[in-house]
Amino acid sequence: MHDAVFPLLADPDRYVAGTWDLTHDAVGRAHWVSVFRAHIPRVIEDAVREGVDRGETEADIRARGEQFAGDFEQWIDQVEADPARHEPLGIIHYCHERERLLRMYGFADPYRLAKQSETDRAMALLPALLDELDAMPDPDRAVAVVKGVFAGNIFDLGAVETAELFDDGQTVQFDQVRDKLKPRPWLFDDLDPWLARATAKQTWRSAVMFIDNAGPDIVLGMIPFARDLLQRGVDVLLAANETPTLNDVTIDELHMLIDRVVAIDPVLRDAYASGRLELASSGNGVPLIDLRKVSDTLCAAVERRDCDLCVIEGMGRAIETNLEAAFACDTLKIAMVKDGGVARELNGSLYDLIFRFESQGDATYASPR
Ligand code: MG
Repeated sequence: MHDAVFPLLADPDRYVAGTWDLTHDAVGRAHWVSVFRAHIPRVIEDAVREGVDRGETEADIRARGEQFAGDFEQWIDQVEADPARHEPLGIIHYCHERERLLRMYGFADPYRLAKQSETDRAMALLPALLDELDAMPDPDRAVAVVKGVFAGNIFDLGAVETAELFDDGQTVQFDQVRDKLKPRPWLFDDLDPWLARATAKQTWRSAVMFIDNAGPDIVLGMIPFARDLLQRGVDVLLAANETPTLNDVTIDELHMLIDRVVAIDPVLRDAYASGRLELASSGNGVPLIDLRKVSDTLCAAVERRDCDLCVIEGMGRAIETNLEAAFACDTLKIAMVKDGGVARELNGSLYDLIFRFESQGDATYASPR
């Protein structure tokens, strides 16, 4: 368990790792309980595939899966019987309990195969994407990079709606997704102030970027975004989860991925070799993140690099836990809305885009449309 406070939080004492308190919100709890329950059979199917691949027997995996399902359902029922006992109750509590029980029943990384195959598929598209971006003038290039993050972020095996897009081996075509993103203005739309700042001569010194999912999200979204910042003179620290959860990238997977990426791209190769690009474990093990419980390694790297830009990506980290979190530096919260309950809370709709840029040098923050 990590318990270091992320040094860029503006007010750690008032920070809460949850955008909504579900303790007294029966409608909100009902939604999230149904999401977590609906996910149980999915994670068991992936665990079966993953375990059989490592030589375990299907009968054994399914037996452990039933125990996991029973315990998790029971825990959910207990919370539902007395939510006040868990106040403030956030989505993150359900995530922590799910991971705890998965480990307890021997499920270390049910999405290992799914992550590998989606990352391999995305890697095949990376060289052409980087060439395409390099050939673009600004601001088209800066816009394409941002849209690439949204398009990549749609790959999410934890979100019921988008997970269905990937069933039966159907993989969404990356460029088609990018072209079909919702038109501006987005639900939170600070793209113009972002572009003004990101394409200026004088920009940031050093960014810390919290990444999300394996596959197109990291490979075709966040890596090109990090590379674009590096090309603009901004150093980059990529923060990944320490332990597996859903299809999120772990720090070990990120190291392996960067080794593959630097083998094909000189920009990232030079940045990585010189230390301008660095990787760190956030200390986290759920799809959301509590920024009061991160790793010492991450805090030390952020302080050593004197980071002045924080990028938080993905629905779990940028919306569900940190949409209202205040930071002491410029911050970008970027995510696609992939859950009906999140959409309802934000007065938006499914596949809405969140691009919230909170600049220390500009008091005009975004507000929803
Ligand atoms: Mg994720």
